[in-house]
Amino acid sequence: SNTTTATSHSSLQQSDARFHLHPFTNTTRLNNKGARVITHADGVYIWDEQGHKILDGMAGLWCVNLGYGREELAEAADAQMRTLPYYNTFFQTTHGPAVELAEAIASVTPGDLNRIFFANSGSEAIDTVMRLTRHYWALQGKPWRNILISRENAYHGSTIGGTSLGGMSGMHKQGGPLVPNIERIRQPYWYGEGGDQSEEAFGLLAARALEEKILAVGPDNVAAFVAEPIQGAGGVIVPPASYWPEIQRICHKYDILLAVDEVICGFGRTGNWFGSDTFNIQPDIMSMAKGLSSGYLPIAAVAVGDRIANTLMAQDEDFNHGFTYSGHPVAAAVALKTIDIMKNEHIVEQVRDNTGPYFQKTLRESLPDHPLVGHIEGTGLIAGMALVQDQASKTLFPSTLDIGLICRDHCFDNGLIMRAVGSRMVLSPPLVINKAEINELCQKVRLCLDLTL
Ligand code: PLP
Repeated sequence: SNTTTATSHSSLQQSDARFHLHPFTNTTRLNNKGARVITHADGVYIWDEQGHKILDGMAGLWCVNLGYGREELAEAADAQMRTLPYYNTFFQTTHGPAVELAEAIASVTPGDLNRIFFANSGSEAIDTVMRLTRHYWALQGKPWRNILISRENAYHGSTIGGTSLGGMSGMHKQGGPLVPNIERIRQPYWYGEGGDQSEEAFGLLAARALEEKILAVGPDNVAAFVAEPIQGAGGVIVPPASYWPEIQRICHKYDILLAVDEVICGFGRTGNWFGSDTFNIQPDIMSMAKGLSSGYLPIAAVAVGDRIANTLMAQDEDFNHGFTYSGHPVAAAVALKTIDIMKNEHIVEQVRDNTGPYFQKTLRESLPDHPLVGHIEGTGLIAGMALVQDQASKTLFPSTLDIGLICRDHCFDNGLIMRAVGSRMVLSPPLVINKAEINELCQKVRLCLDLTL
């Protein structure tokens, strides 16, 4: 019964069950078992209250890119907190960390994305993208041009804006009416939805859904298309190579702004600074968070290209948008140090040339013909795999079985964090993971899949 379980819980677990409302959590289920209390971490490992050492195959929530225990990041926060713990950038003031970070971000973003707006989370960055792209068209004298197009199964955060823009039906069901004038198109999920088409053909088909949608609602009503380079929280869906060039062509043809959500893909995850570099996308505006500070403090940014920035700055009026903690000096100092470390240690090049390809190869070689694994996709240090009941027909397990959660729990119990997204398992380890740790990770994935069988 609940009472007997509860008494076996540690005091932190008991208080957690009593006072803490967890995000994205079935609280009934959680409290039967008790939340696992994470106490400390180092490198790519975390430890729980019982002393278990666990390889963090998710870098927290796709964010602790430099791994845990980086003294330089703690020191950067400490020093900034003692010098200037807070000041705003609203009313004709600025400060060193915000300015230097804006310049550092502009030094790594592609194309002309050189104006940086700060927020505290990916969701706030996405809300900023939504408001700014619509405002852009209003400034162009076309306020009716306000439809945002996104994709099914996209994740863009859980504010009312991010929830509305995202394509997760479970989220749309809760929390009341969504933001209007948002349209969605299919996702480019070749393995799951491509049938017997080639990847190339399916990629074009999925991209042309954008053109169909634009024509259906009228090109002169569309503000922007918003998408992740690789859908992360949707299960790590890597689009076919034909997809992004076609999306780019369609956006140009109808003069639609292209907004790329780099919250997961940004800062080295795909083996380049941004997913946009990996897929050769030229965004007009881009959101980023997570890896920006390696998850050590909350901070996010929106990089704005010349087209939008010039229009905005040609106005003699306020841009009425911002957050108390936009460009927070301590978070900015930590992000600045994060980018420093990434450059000095050549983290992006390591992922691109060394650990990324090794991870992709080792993961596939660890699971040759594993009966549960229908397909593996990924690039750099991000990967997703489809768990299937039958490989030949790609038949999924009945959803009542929750095969993903069974696998995830085996991982948890065997020293590995691997996340389940429905029947897909996803991995996104810290970018500092070395080859020995990649071997360990892949062996554990194999073991846990065997236990799930
Ligand atoms: N956009 C993408 C692509 C994300 O993956 C996430 C979070 O996972 C968000 C936005 C929202 O970020 P946050 O949770 O920091 O609000």
